[in-house]
Amino acid sequence: MYTLRTLPGDDVRQIMWRFADRFDLQMSIQSARSIARSVVAKLVAEGARNTHEWTEQKDELLTAFDQSGLTAVFMDPHQGGFIEGPKNLALALIAFELAWVDAGAATSSLASCLALAPIHEKGTTEQRDKYMSACVPPQPGEDREIWRGAFALTEPLPYIGVDTGVLCGKATVSDWTDGEEPMLQIDKRGRFITNMDFANFVTAAVESNDDRIKGTFMVILEEGDEGIFDRGAPTLKMVHQLSSTRDPIMNLKVPASRIIGGYDVVDGVIVPKYNHSEIIGSVFHRTRIPVGLMTSAKLISAIEPVIRYHRNRFRGGDACKEGSPRFDKGIQSNEDALQRLIDVWASGEAGCSLAFAASRLADQFDPIEKAKEAEFENQGITSPRKQMMALRKMKDQVFELIDLEYTPEADRNQARYQELKNDTLVSYAYMEALAGVLNPGVKLWNTGEGANKMREAVALVGGYGITEDCPGFLMQKWTDTQLEATYEGPEAVQRRHLTMTMTSEVFLHTLDAWIKQMKAAGSNVPGLGGYALASAMELWKFTLNYLQSAKDENGKKLYHNKRQGVTFAVADALGWLLGPYYLATDVMELIEKGPMSPTLAEGIDDLTGFYKDVCHVQAARAAGEVSRICTDLVYGFNECNGECSRDDLKEFVELKAKVDMCMAGSRLAKDRAGNALSEVMIPEALDYPIG
Ligand SMILES: Cc1cc2nc3c(=O)[nH]c(=O)nc-3n(C[C@H](O)[C@H](O)[C@H](O)COP(=O)(O)OP(=O)(O)OC[C@H]3O[C@@H](n4cnc5c(N)ncnc54)[C@H](O)[C@@H]3O)c2cc1C
Repeated sequence: MYTLRTLPGDDVRQIMWRFADRFDLQMSIQSARSIARSVVAKLVAEGARNTHEWTEQKDELLTAFDQSGLTAVFMDPHQGGFIEGPKNLALALIAFELAWVDAGAATSSLASCLALAPIHEKGTTEQRDKYMSACVPPQPGEDREIWRGAFALTEPLPYIGVDTGVLCGKATVSDWTDGEEPMLQIDKRGRFITNMDFANFVTAAVESNDDRIKGTFMVILEEGDEGIFDRGAPTLKMVHQLSSTRDPIMNLKVPASRIIGGYDVVDGVIVPKYNHSEIIGSVFHRTRIPVGLMTSAKLISAIEPVIRYHRNRFRGGDACKEGSPRFDKGIQSNEDALQRLIDVWASGEAGCSLAFAASRLADQFDPIEKAKEAEFENQGITSPRKQMMALRKMKDQVFELIDLEYTPEADRNQARYQELKNDTLVSYAYMEALAGVLNPGVKLWNTGEGANKMREAVALVGGYGITEDCPGFLMQKWTDTQLEATYEGPEAVQRRHLTMTMTSEVFLHTLDAWIKQMKAAGSNVPGLGGYALASAMELWKFTLNYLQSAKDENGKKLYHNKRQGVTFAVADALGWLLGPYYLATDVMELIEKGPMSPTLAEGIDDLTGFYKDVCHVQAARAAGEVSRICTDLVYGFNECNGECSRDDLKEFVELKAKVDMCMAGSRLAKDRAGNALSEVMIPEALDYPIG
């Protein structure tokens, strides 16, 4: 038995989310937190969310982001920023802090980064330096307006939405004098475009409507360009009201040098270096992570207000004597109230562990991706298909790297590990396959399941929960989750993405390494839920293999990208496993490093005891979901034979029974974690105004 003394603070997070040695990130967190809990909280409490319009009051947000340094986080030092190297983790931590109070505000802080992302990922050096520098707030002595951007992919119905293939945005050549830069006419309408009230430039996806331009591309449009730059009507959204959204109409003449990534002229035709799909693929590969994180941050932010509400619920009445259980514990004297809150907490922790792991991976991946491009260019291998074939040939080395990556440091051949890790193409192949699962996984699971769990948090505050002035703004946070699940690609997009990536041999080899790692955790770290996770992963893998060759009652293949009833469900099941897996690794990190922390050492066993239980609760929940989904899929496409037996599925039956047995102890874990919530100390008042 243990007691949780206080709610976990920065000292715990820095270890679990691995930024204890990053002073630059800790500073950014402080800036974001102080704005979230002052300017943002005040806006929400004062009802600034009650209008679709972008008001002067809401504009205070942008000033606060500029003044505190948050606006410049995305830029490199030579562009006016202050963080060296990749910034995915930095942006994720800022999104976490802002979404802790309001996810619309978090979206506002990220929207210009989304607009810049196509330029950052695929732009030319000149484009990058021009627009990134323009978006940095003016330094003392500088006299210029700060630029903000909008990212315009989505178009009015019936064009771009989930399906990004059919564009109505068109490009034609307007003038092209021999030896001079061609001028393009860009006709683009947007739907639901964030930042559109004040954007000075827009990165827009368009398609050629002219024989002299090839294919699709993304282009930078500026407010001052010749033609129409109409910001359009405000979107009548009911969520994220601290971000600006409108349906713009733009018809502008721009030089061809605004094509993102540049172009070549081949036989009199402008050939953009990148088509719009390549650019948006690269952008969303990163930007979806902080969106998923927002929902998880909100789940954890709900813990303190719910505990306070429950404890204080009956205080002050005549019948509630000081010192009585009703006075001391309030609603917390009921087991269900404690345990449902543990479920909310466990989901939030799992989502955060997954999203921070994905953002750390993205930071490692950024330079590797660039190095891979350079290496292939040196070798003259430029077509994506040829690159893929070259990477496939390295399968054995990639597998060896994965095996070493998941072998404890003391037991592995360190020299060989370093050699493989330093091999750009080998490292790239491993990271690309993993990121291909983690990034859609974060967006899918954190937001989709997070929305369901946020409803549970609201329910725990009863009638007050569904009012505007619920402590912790839980009602607003719940409704906002639906937008997090929608923008930058709804769940269907993420499931479709996972359908392609989760079958990769490299990812499946990584999954084998996770299974071994979780089995080892099952015996070395009892109570973490390692066995439950390992057995559920095995069941998932068996099911995927089975479905790939099995046919339904009518002889039709089950695993087929047109058969979303199968593939999307397999993706959902995998989504459940990712969060608790990364939470387990974070808890193991806390067990290892916590004792060395001066602030945590004393109560470390209590703290890690609680975290092991939270992880176990989530591992068991995930294992249950995986088991349910896999059972549906394996048995559901054949009619009942009346005998309740399938000889061909003996292995499935055994694996499933193992998952069931591995639930051992998970309810005891929930009992203990729930009890800990009834004793944990919380501050006297919420850390931001409640109205
Ligand atoms: C407030 C807000 C801000 C936004 N900001 C931006 C922005 O800044 N820039 C930008 O470009 N866009 C932005 N968007 C647009 C957003 O990204 C899109 O709304 C989203 O990608 C979904 O497109 P859609 O609404 O057209 O949905 P649709 O394409 O109409 O899809 C609707 C639903 O149908 C189902 N569905 C559709 N296709 C499939 C399929 N192939 N398989 C299975 N199911 C499917 C899914 O359930 C899906 O959710 C924003 C949206 C909102 C609401």
